[in-house]
Amino acid sequence: MSTSLTGAAHTGTLDLLVVDADADRYVSVLSSMFRVVTASIAAALERMTRAVPAALVVALDGADGAPLVLIARARALSVPPVVLVLTAEPACVPDAIMAGCGSVLLQPFAPNLIYSRLSRMIRLRMGAVPADCMREWPTTRCAHCDHEGVMSFEYASHRRAWYACLACKKVWMAKRLD
Ligand SMILES: [Zn+2]
Repeated sequence: MSTSLTGAAHTGTLDLLVVDADADRYVSVLSSMFRVVTASIAAALERMTRAVPAALVVALDGADGAPLVLIARARALSVPPVVLVLTAEPACVPDAIMAGCGSVLLQPFAPNLIYSRLSRMIRLRMGAVPADCMREWPTTRCAHCDHEGVMSFEYASHRRAWYACLACKKVWMAKRLD
């Protein structure tokens, strides 16, 4: 435990790029850990050509594919940032996972939750914690298309989680497998 706390203490200088019109709601909570820059999608794409952030937060409203292009571009960088997607639409999640996002927070969420999620993603990348709620379940079959292999992407409660099938792009809530 002390190892991960030490790791978290070192992350105060990490660059975080946020693409979300509602970022004001939680940015102050993140500033103890990150140097936060908020940007439009176009500005974020431009900025990433000069400075790669440690983490990227992208809000998806389902309106168009531009946020997915941003995620894919970020994940194609030589040292890609961890990518957290925020969305009120679980149906957007399969596309976000395929674009390369590493975690999903379903809106609305409490500001402290985005802090703990980003902190966990950073520690996960450093190998300081074993697993996240975003996991692949290779032998679980999709209830919709019977494809073998599904992803869990968020805990819905103590006992239930959200799952996505990347073959048919359906999402559903079911009993937690972990
Ligand atoms: Zn399916």
